[in-house]
Amino acid sequence: MARSSSTGRVVIIGGGATSALIAVRLAERGFHVTVLEKAQPGNGSSSRSAAGIRAQFSTEETVVGMQYSEWWYSHFHDLLRSPADVRQQAVMRQNGYLFLYEDPDVIPAWQPRRRQELARVWQHAQAAATMQQRVGLPVEVLSPQHVHERWPHLLPDRLTGATWCPTDGFLIPHMIYSEGFRRAKELGVEVQQHTEVIGAVLHADRIHALVTNKGTFEADWFINATNIWAARLSPRIGGMTLPVSPLKRYLYFLKPAQPVMEAADWQQLPMTIYGVGSHRGAHSRPEQELLLLAWAHETEPETRFNDDDQDRIDPPFRHDNGIDNYGYAILAQVDEFSPLLANAGGLVATTTGFYGATPDANPLIGRDACQQNLVHAAGFSGHGLMHAPITALLVEAILSGDVDSGHVRMPAPFDYATIDLHTFDPGRAFDSSSKEQLVL
Ligand SMILES: Cc1cc2nc3c(=O)[nH]c(=O)nc-3n(C[C@H](O)[C@H](O)[C@H](O)COP(=O)(O)OP(=O)(O)OC[C@H]3O[C@@H](n4cnc5c(N)ncnc54)[C@H](O)[C@@H]3O)c2cc1C
Repeated sequence: MARSSSTGRVVIIGGGATSALIAVRLAERGFHVTVLEKAQPGNGSSSRSAAGIRAQFSTEETVVGMQYSEWWYSHFHDLLRSPADVRQQAVMRQNGYLFLYEDPDVIPAWQPRRRQELARVWQHAQAAATMQQRVGLPVEVLSPQHVHERWPHLLPDRLTGATWCPTDGFLIPHMIYSEGFRRAKELGVEVQQHTEVIGAVLHADRIHALVTNKGTFEADWFINATNIWAARLSPRIGGMTLPVSPLKRYLYFLKPAQPVMEAADWQQLPMTIYGVGSHRGAHSRPEQELLLLAWAHETEPETRFNDDDQDRIDPPFRHDNGIDNYGYAILAQVDEFSPLLANAGGLVATTTGFYGATPDANPLIGRDACQQNLVHAAGFSGHGLMHAPITALLVEAILSGDVDSGHVRMPAPFDYATIDLHTFDPGRAFDSSSKEQLVL
């Protein structure tokens, strides 16, 4: 369906992947767009990401949205009209996501709660797979033997089953925002670096202009795309309180001492999640010749973080802090499912950044409750890169009025589906029943 032209001036605050793809979409639609970034593009989580993309979620809106995102990233270079040299490399590798689930019977009888939890998460996983298949995702439920036959380095012993989606994979983060902003500028978008939003001029439930260190910027619409800074920024510009918690997250890199499988098999390894539930959730994927490892550990929000804290690695989390470090805790989880991978070599690097987490692990995409012309696109937890294409589509729909009773009709080839914007409404009630179950 052709998108009718809109007019109006939009200022997007933030220079990450979310902002880049929103800028392109709005400029294509006819809006006059300015991006304000306090440092330079990629200053936030977009350059510190594990960059996975999956449609295996338990929230139906997200499953639909991520199918769109995977489709969008598979057409990335055509949609952004990338130059020939950039087209040599695809932005996405669809190696698939493999969630492994443990058999409750491997847990000793004296841990009845743990056994019950494992039975429950496997039941949820199968129900989620049924829902995902219903909305068109090619997800499969695999037996332990099937997993072992397909990926011999994974032992079947602890498993009760797995879910596998071959269209999931991982992205090249810097390509998303560098190509996004390149195309945005080609479409007339102004990207102002080193321009920090510090306040706003308000008038009758609306933002009239943003105040920055480089002067004021008037517009008809304002988009808060600052993710981990979103909760700090919103009240400064007259907006609502946002429940976005900056949570520290770490990535580790393992270098095999010698090859543990054929190079082609290594490059095809899926993002593998080694068990779901408490004290589980370690995951890995190939990063060229290295293995990238991660896990979302329990931690307190760091609401007073500064930019440098994004790269701060506390001693217990350093890969070179002896064996008493968090990277080895991740390897210990992997070892229970794949001793071959866990013992393939040593950890050679640690990187870090913040998730912008919300109470139900779903993002905040929608209008502000106080300022009528302020839209938030933030709180993406560990999913902002994969969300960026669908976030851009939803923001465009909100600004253009393409919303019918709170629903946005998806474009072809997904035009059989709609997305209920209430799921992502920044002012929604965060009850536990609507919490995303598959959080990493
Ligand atoms: C370790 C780790 C692993 C992750 N793994 C994944 C994954 O596997 N898959 C996935 O999809 N996502 C993952 N994420 C999350 C993902 O990286 C983020 O959700 C995403 O990058 C958010 O992009 P963004 O553009 O919304 O925000 P950001 O990239 O954080 O950009 C926000 C920008 O706003 C700017 N800004 C802030 N305040 C102001 C202001 N007042 N004025 C002007 N500019 C301002 C900042 O400088 C920053 O550049 C991971 C994140 C981390 C840290």
